[in-house]
Parts: sequence; structure tokens; C-alpha cells
Amino acid sequence: MRLLYEGKSKKIYDVGGDKVFVEFKDDITAFNGEKKASPPNKGKITAKISSILFEYLQTNGIPTHYLHRGERGFYARKVKILPVELVVRNVATGSIVSRLGIEKGSRFEPPLVEYFYKSDLLGDPMVCENHIIYFGWANEEELSRMKDLALKATQLLTDLLALAGLRLVDIKYEFGYDESGQLLLADEISPDTFRLWDEEGRPYDKDVFRKDLGDVVETYKEVLRRLEEALKRLSTS
Ligand code: 5GP
Repeated sequence: MRLLYEGKSKKIYDVGGDKVFVEFKDDITAFNGEKKASPPNKGKITAKISSILFEYLQTNGIPTHYLHRGERGFYARKVKILPVELVVRNVATGSIVSRLGIEKGSRFEPPLVEYFYKSDLLGDPMVCENHIIYFGWANEEELSRMKDLALKATQLLTDLLALAGLRLVDIKYEFGYDESGQLLLADEISPDTFRLWDEEGRPYDKDVFRKDLGDVVETYKEVLRRLEEALKRLSTS
């Protein structure tokens, strides 16, 4: 397999045709790469959670780049990623609290959508729809389609995670075009890219690593265990 790209937590390999293999490393980073660790098995667990969630979204009508599971990763359609991240928020925490002074824990109903320009150099600054269209990162139609898919995916994941006793607080999405020109939900969906709280407001996501709140791999394992249990219950109901 030819290595196409290596990011902070994943490697993308060309496996021929229009397919890639997305391999999850054990590496975990925060604060734009300033904090780093490589806890054993982190990649394997994160890959499994991501695969399960892509399978769930795909089954429920969201077009994604995901194809099938592999060892420490998954196979996916090759896509050209648009340089815009969509963050959907159900509950206020993280950057919106420090940026706008919104009270932590406030609920957003309907969920709030924000856009960020993908740039490690600039630290992914928040942008508005005008910036995205003006600078040609996406056109109006693409933007509206991404927003629609992000909101639908968030509703599906919020409901599924609620069955696992976890509250989906916020989530980041990336989209890309495949070789046939289809817009697909891409990248990964995992506790590295969303925040989850239990009933007591305890985090089950990368905040455990960001804020040194415990063992991040054990936390991700618990998310996986709860998800598998919730899906089993769904399939027998
Ligand atoms: P915030 O804007 O509060 O920092 O992040 C909102 C949500 O999007 C969180 O769930 C966070 O993990 C996710 N997120 C935002 N930007 C990034 C990013 O560049 N990489 C990853 N992995 N997640 C991000």
C-alpha cells in the first residue's frame, strides 16, 4: 500500500482504483499538536468506533466515504476534502464558551452549526458562510448540502448515543468529493472528533486527554462497549 498522506492521528494509503485505507495511529494530540501521547490500542479502538458510526449513518441514508472495516482502520472511497470543518453543537462547551461567553452547559435547540477554515498554520479559525463562498472553499449549493447532512447525521448520532446513555454535546464533520463527483461525509467520527457526556456530565471523549481527566483508552473502550450494547438492543427490538 502506498502512503498518500500522514496526519496527526491517521495515515491514508492508496490501495488502488478509487479506494484508500484509513489507518488509525495510537497518537493523540491536542491544542494544535502542542500536547501529544501514543497510548497503546488507542488507534484500534478509535477505528472500531468510527467504523461502527459510519456504518450506522450509511444504513440510515447519509452518504459517506466509508466502505468496510480493516485491521486498525477502514477502507474508504478516495475523496478530495473541502477545506471547511462543520461543527454542530447541542450543548455549549469548548471554544464557543471562551469565544462568545455562552454559559457552559446551555442547550442549543435547534443545534447550532459553525464553520472553521481547515488550516493548522492558522489554528482552524472560525469563518462565516460569506467567507466560504467568497474564497471558493465551497459554493452555496455545496454549503447547504453539507449543513443539511451534518444536521441529519447529528440527529441520528444523538439518538443512537442516547441509547448508550451518552449525550452528544458537539461534533466536527469534514466532507469531500469522490472521483464521480459525489459529496460524501468523510474523515472520521470518533471521541477524537465529538464530545460525549454521561448523565452526570462526565466526559467520554478527547477532553479526558486534553484536561488530564483519566485513562483515555479505557474511556474510549467504554464508549465502544456502550455503543455495541445499544446497537445489539436496537437490532433485537
Ligand atoms: P471546539 O470548537 O469547542 O474546540 O470543538 C467543537 C467540537 O469539534 C469538539 O467535539 C472537538 O473535538 C471537535 N473539533 C473541532 N476542531 C477539531 C479538529 O481540528 N480536530 C478534531 N479532531 N476535532 C475537532
